[in-house]
Amino acid sequence: MQNLTDIRFVRELLARHGFTFSKALGQNFLINPTVCPQMAQACGADGQGVLEIGPGVGVLTAQLARRARKVVSLELDQRLLPVLSETLARFDNIEILHQDILRADLHTLLQEHFAGMEVSVCANLPYYITSPVIMRLLEEHLPLRAITVMVQKEAAERLCAPVGSREAGAVTVAVQYYARAERLFGVSRGSFLPAPKVDSEVIRLTVREQPAVTVEDERKFFRMVKAAFGQRRKTALNAISAGMQLPKQAVAEALHQAGLAENVRAETLCMEELAALCQSLPD
Ligand code: SAM
Repeated sequence: MQNLTDIRFVRELLARHGFTFSKALGQNFLINPTVCPQMAQACGADGQGVLEIGPGVGVLTAQLARRARKVVSLELDQRLLPVLSETLARFDNIEILHQDILRADLHTLLQEHFAGMEVSVCANLPYYITSPVIMRLLEEHLPLRAITVMVQKEAAERLCAPVGSREAGAVTVAVQYYARAERLFGVSRGSFLPAPKVDSEVIRLTVREQPAVTVEDERKFFRMVKAAFGQRRKTALNAISAGMQLPKQAVAEALHQAGLAENVRAETLCMEELAALCQSLPD
């Protein structure tokens, strides 16, 4: 019986397929036997559809398939396809697609593969694309219930920081506008083959039915957030004025209208204050 968390088995499997790890594709495969069952449990896969990103040798995919009605997994590295055909042969509810998560047509993919199912995402993300993947999944308003992903510990801290705290950045605001963010558990670097230089953490983003705050113009809101957090040493007034190319006087008036001090910094503002400020800014 194959054991995808047995380091000797995995090494032998990969050697037999002539596979060598690609750093550029963020290939660090999980070999800690407790992590994948915990992730599969936490993502709420039971009886539902699951979209996985980057199956590697299928260690998490197998755990998901045991619980989910259907798993669709997108793998960019063609060399892993024959490996996955071997390791996942006993499952009839998994589809592996040779696709790039950043380019795939996700609306069509979800419609075609998960008709009538609720869908969650679960993945040990390739770290070089953590933020773009998460933002793509959220910004496209896909019909997803939750996104449970392993990310670098520092990314987990940032993504799940309370908006209005020093750790929060533009990506924190963007993620929490669309989802409720929770840190679930830590995963040490020794849990991977090969071991990365950093520790990891599993987080869960539960997609909100409505965004956290109401803003008239989402694009303007995110432009403002990017500008406000882009130059962290500046006040929100200076950062927004420079980043959005608005006269300082106009930004000062908007701060005043939103009931905020002129010398306030973006990282002290909560979601409602950011929304109010956006509302008061000229278009
Ligand atoms: N899920 C496996 C595990 O936990 O052991 C592998 C995780 S490994 C951190 C990331 C995986 O994502 C690799 O299999 C890699 O080839 C794949 N990958 C990298 N970039 C990708 C992309 N743009 N689209 C889809 N898969 C990608």
